Amino acid sequence: MKATPDANCREMFDRVSAYLDGELPAAECREIERHCQGCDRCAEFIDSLRHTVGLCREAGQRPLPADVRSRAKARIRELMGVALPGSTPAAPPRRRARPSASPSARATLRRQRPAGKK
Ligand SMILES: [Zn+2]
Repeated sequence: MKATPDANCREMFDRVSAYLDGELPAAECREIERHCQGCDRCAEFIDSLRHTVGLCREAGQRPLPADVRSRAKARIRELMGVALPGSTPAAPPRRRARPSASPSARATLRRQRPAGKK
């Protein structure tokens, strides 16, 4: 078993969702399966992702309880920055007042420091 992911692993990660969705050509699927036979890390990753995808699909079939649904919707609206009725919209994130000092500005600051002090 390999301890760290290599370039092939990274390439696999890019294609794994297409693989699980059955969107990859057969040759690429075989390539991934072959890689997983020699790479426990990727095999485990794909297994757990496949499991998660299955759970999500299953959960998507069941309707949420009404209270959970309304709380989820409210939270989504909040996260998307849409004002909710009866509440104040969240302040937009503050932009940085000014960009960080340029290299030449830093050089100037260094030069202005009193010399001889430690
Ligand atoms: Zn791998």
